[in-house]
Amino acid sequence: MKVAFTSDNIAGASESVFQAIIEASQGDAMPYGNDESTALVTHKLSELFECEVEVFLVSTGTAANVLSISALTPPWGSVLCHKESHLLQDENTAPEFYAGGARFVGIEGENAKIDPEWLKKAVTQKIGDVHSCQPAAVSISQVTEVGSVYSLEEIRAVTSVAKEAGLPVHMDGARFANALVSLGCTPAQMTWKAGVDIVSFGATKNGTMASEAIVVFKQPLEEKGLSFDRVVKELAFRRKRGGHLHSKMRLLSAQMIAYLTDDLWLTNASHANAMMAHLQEGLKSIPGVKINTPAQANMLFCTLPLPMIDHLHSEGFAFYGGRWEEGVVRLVTSFRTPKEGVDAFIHAAKSFAERTV
Ligand SMILES: *Cc1c(COP(=O)(O)O)cnc(C)c1O
Repeated sequence: MKVAFTSDNIAGASESVFQAIIEASQGDAMPYGNDESTALVTHKLSELFECEVEVFLVSTGTAANVLSISALTPPWGSVLCHKESHLLQDENTAPEFYAGGARFVGIEGENAKIDPEWLKKAVTQKIGDVHSCQPAAVSISQVTEVGSVYSLEEIRAVTSVAKEAGLPVHMDGARFANALVSLGCTPAQMTWKAGVDIVSFGATKNGTMASEAIVVFKQPLEEKGLSFDRVVKELAFRRKRGGHLHSKMRLLSAQMIAYLTDDLWLTNASHANAMMAHLQEGLKSIPGVKINTPAQANMLFCTLPLPMIDHLHSEGFAFYGGRWEEGVVRLVTSFRTPKEGVDAFIHAAKSFAERTV
């Protein structure tokens, strides 16, 4: 059996999500989010996060990220994110475009996690100097771009530097559920209770068709003396200006409701993570295979011998890499990855290694 580990966005959407779209398509509803399902999404997310939130649904993760950030920084500000972050590496110039030319600055740190010491340097330099761009916001990715997960302590280490500097913190949660399942904590603990002000609550990679939620938390923003109402108002206008105020919002809302119903989001992420744990365990024992960053969720970077990569590709297994950096490949599991597919991949790699060593 062949299987693809290209990305978690190669999987379609969960059945109940599509069923919900079909049901939501019946009859009429008010447009632009003035409908009952959209109100229910906000209600459900405020229950889930155990606090007052405002929610803005958009249809891509890039839009969720760059809109969130644009409401946090003036055009003369800088946004501190990891140098390997999706914002810096995978969103073209959408960040600068949406943030009106604000500067995105890459911070160092192991395993694609921001090093709080580096961050401290970046947020304390040339403050008030009109010649220098001024730190305005911090963004972290949870799961990170290399498949690691910030512990709650690591999140707090970053957010406390931000708080001391009075800066809001955004979390790119394109794989929010995978990180949450990995840590085994509550959504509140991983976000506002750890000092995060705004989250891109990703769902598309984990079961929706195209629905991502920007979630804004009132309490941490106000603790920093930042206005929740201002951020919310800006987001409303910026989403429209940015072309993400869907007229048939209820179809996005229906997806999000189905995603959150009966713990589908957690079930899906648990499956993806379990498949990755199984894959990683299998690969570890194969001669010539090196784990670059231990996978803590559903994504793994490892190094394989080039002939093994060619062999696996020729056997029909799909995944990125091999030629970016010699032998480095990225393997991603999804809510749909079949266990037999993982077994087949391990078997193919192992038998190739045994034949060639
Ligand atoms: C996939 C992903 C996104 C969102 O990407 P879109 O393709 O715009 O949906 C954002 N951040 C990270 C870390 C991602 O992996």
